[in-house]
Amino acid sequence: MIPKYIILHHSLTVDSKTKSAEAIKRYHIETMGWKDIGYHHLIELVDKEYKIFKGREDNVAGAHTRGMNINSLGICCVGNYDKRFMDEDMFDLLADLVFCLCLKYMIPIDNIRRHNDYAPYKTCPGKYFPFDKLIKTIYNKIVKADLLDLDTNEFIIDFMSRKINKISQE
Ligand SMILES: [Zn+2]
Repeated sequence: MIPKYIILHHSLTVDSKTKSAEAIKRYHIETMGWKDIGYHHLIELVDKEYKIFKGREDNVAGAHTRGMNINSLGICCVGNYDKRFMDEDMFDLLADLVFCLCLKYMIPIDNIRRHNDYAPYKTCPGKYFPFDKLIKTIYNKIVKADLLDLDTNEFIIDFMSRKINKISQE
């Protein structure tokens, strides 16, 4: 799969401040009967720090948005954003991740979408999810990167190797 869209989700669950990514993975495999966790990336608070966890490989279709799994990356922000606002630290990490994925796969900013753009009966990624702010931030990053003539690939490789964690195998 070559990703052409990025689709944003929340987990609905409360972020327990411990690793939820593994529990979500178990739920998707054992309860839902899927072959792997449905998302490609998850962001959550572990101890006092927000971290990115890798789910499915980016070139493998996910299981997160009906009708869009064949050409999109699913990103899950752990927490319930129908009930609370997103912390600044999570927002910053999410913006970095989405920006990198846009550059890596040449995904246009218009193709950053919310789950409920495809499933209007759902509120996912939550009514308080800072979508407009995210789009504005990504736009500013793209403008800034152009001005700085950044070596895009090195930037992505560095970002990926520093910030993305693996979900451990059970
Ligand atoms: Zn969703």
